Amino acid sequence: MKSLILAGIFLMCMLFLGCSQKIETAQESADTTFAAFEDTFLDSYWKQYPIASIFNGYGKYYESVVIPDSNAVENNIKFSRQWLDSLESSNYEGLSDNNKISFNIIKNWLESDIWYADVFKDHKWNASLYNLSWGCYYIINQPYAPLDDRLRILSKHLESAERYYQAAFKTLLRPTREHIELSILQNEGGLSIFGKSLTDSIKISGLTDIEKNTLNENINKTIQATKTFIADLKKILADKNYEFRSFRIGKELFEQKFRYDLVTTFTPQEIYDKAVADKKMYYDKMYITAGNLWGKYFGNRPKPADTLVLIQTVIDKISLQHAKPEHFFDSLTNHVYRLKKFIVQKNLFDFDTAYPMKVRIMPAFMSGVAVANAEFTPPYQKEGETYYNIDDLTTYPKEKAESTLREYNDYASQLLSIHEAVPGHCLQGIYNNKKSGDVLRSVFTNGAMIEGWAVYTEGMMLDNGWGGHSLEMELTHGKMKLRELANVIIDYDLHCLNKSKESIMNLMVRECFQTAAQAEEKYHRATVSQVQLCSYYTGHLAIEALRDEYQQKMGTQYSLKDFHEKFLSFGSSPIKYIRERMLE
Ligand code: ZN
Ligand code: ZN
Repeated sequence: MKSLILAGIFLMCMLFLGCSQKIETAQESADTTFAAFEDTFLDSYWKQYPIASIFNGYGKYYESVVIPDSNAVENNIKFSRQWLDSLESSNYEGLSDNNKISFNIIKNWLESDIWYADVFKDHKWNASLYNLSWGCYYIINQPYAPLDDRLRILSKHLESAERYYQAAFKTLLRPTREHIELSILQNEGGLSIFGKSLTDSIKISGLTDIEKNTLNENINKTIQATKTFIADLKKILADKNYEFRSFRIGKELFEQKFRYDLVTTFTPQEIYDKAVADKKMYYDKMYITAGNLWGKYFGNRPKPADTLVLIQTVIDKISLQHAKPEHFFDSLTNHVYRLKKFIVQKNLFDFDTAYPMKVRIMPAFMSGVAVANAEFTPPYQKEGETYYNIDDLTTYPKEKAESTLREYNDYASQLLSIHEAVPGHCLQGIYNNKKSGDVLRSVFTNGAMIEGWAVYTEGMMLDNGWGGHSLEMELTHGKMKLRELANVIIDYDLHCLNKSKESIMNLMVRECFQTAAQAEEKYHRATVSQVQLCSYYTGHLAIEALRDEYQQKMGTQYSLKDFHEKFLSFGSSPIKYIRERMLE
C-alpha cells in the first residue's frame, strides 16, 4: 500500500512538470508520465515478487522471501488489481507507439497474474513452484554487490526457509504426481548450491565470526527444511491410495492459458488444425525428397514400399555425416562466422557484425540438458555478454555422444546454429537489448515471439539460399518442422483430448522420426508444462502472416531487411502488439 501511495504522489509531480514546460507536446507529456509510471510500477513489482527480481538481476529486495500461504495469493491479486486501475488512468491515445506496446504488455501481464492466482491456481497443485535454491544461486553469483554483502543478503534470505517450505507444503492441496516428481528432482539438485564452494567462499569472506556462524546456521536450517519438504513429497508418492490431480488441465483452462501466455488471436483449436494439416504437407514433401535422394545413397537397391521406412532410411543415412566429438565445437563456431557474413551479404539484416556475441563451451552446471543454447545476462545487469553455449561432447559417454552427433549431424547442426545463434535467439536478444531500449520488453518477454522468431529464421535462411538448396538440408529441415508441429499436437492431445501416452509415443517415433528416448523426454515435458510447446509454431505462423501483410502495405517499398529490422525493433513483445504498430 505504501508504495502505491508514493507512486501516486510521484505521478502527480510528473504531471505538474509536464504543464510547466510549455514547449513539450501532448505526446511528450503523456510519454513522460508513462515513463515515470513504468519505473515505479516495475520497482513495486520486484518488491512484490522478490524471486522474480533476482532472476531479472534487479539487485534489490533479494533478502526477502514471500511465504507462499493463502495471504500471499490474495495479496498478489490485490496488487495486480490496484496497478491495473492505476494503468487504466493513463492517456493511452496520447502515448508513442513504443509506450502503447508497453501499456498493453503491462495490462496483459497483470491480468495474467490474476488469472494464475484466481483461476489456474497452480500454487495448489504444482509442487515444482517451490524451490529456494535457484534464487540463492543468483544471490551468490550475480555481480550486484561485493561478495561479503551478497553473503549477508543470502543469510537474511535464508532466515525464512523453514517457514517457506512449511507453508508450501500446506498450500499444496491435491498436487499432480508429475510435478511432485519434478519438484523432488529439482530440490534435490538444488541442494548442491549449498555445498563446498559456498562454504569455501564463506571461509575466505570478510564476514565477522558471528555473521559467519549465523549464515552457516541459516544454511543448515535451509538444507534441513528442503529435505523435510522432499521427504513429505515422497510420502505422498508412496501413498497407494492418494488421489493425485491429473496433469491434464483440460480444454477450458488450456484455452485461457493459451490466450494469456501467448497473447494471440488464434485459438488453440485453429493452431491444432493447422498443425495437423501442415504435418501432412511436410510429410508428403519429405517423401518426395527422400525418394530423390535414394539413388545417391543406395544406388539400384529397391526403394522400400512403406513411405515411413523410405524416409527413415534416408534420414538415418544422412545422420551418419557428422563431426567427431572433439570437432563439434569448432564446426558450430564456424557456422556462426559464416552465418553472420551471410545475413549481411544477402541483405537480410543491418546487423553490425562487430557486436559481441561469444561462442563458448557450455558452463558445466548447464551441461547435459541441451546440446547448445543461447544465454543472456539478466535484463538489469549491466555487465555481461550474449553467449552461444555449446556442450562439450568429449565429456559424454561414447554412446550418448554418437547418438547426439547423429541427431545434430552436419545438416541439423547448421539449423541448430541458426535457431540458437544467428539470426535466431542470440541475434534477437542483441536487438532486444540494443534497439528496444526499454527494460520492460526484456523482463516481460513473450515466448511465442521469441521461439516463433527462432523457428521462422530456419526456414527464412534456407529460402534465401543457406545450404545451397541441397536435398539433404531440405529433408533435415522437414524433420525439424515435424518436431515443431508435433509439439502443438502433443500438447493439445494430452491436455485437451485426453490421449494416451502410447499414442503420443507412436506419433513421435513412427510419424516424426524421433528416437524413443527423445519421444519419452518430450512426453514428460508435455506433462509438466502446458501451452509452452505451442509457442514455436504459433509464433512462427503469426510472424509469417505479419510479413505478408506488411509486404502488402509497403508495396514496392517492401524489403525483407526492412521487415526484419522493424519487427525486431520492438523487442520481445507479443507479435499481436507489434502487428498493430507495424500495420498502422
Ligand atoms: Zn557416427
Ligand atoms: Zn528456441
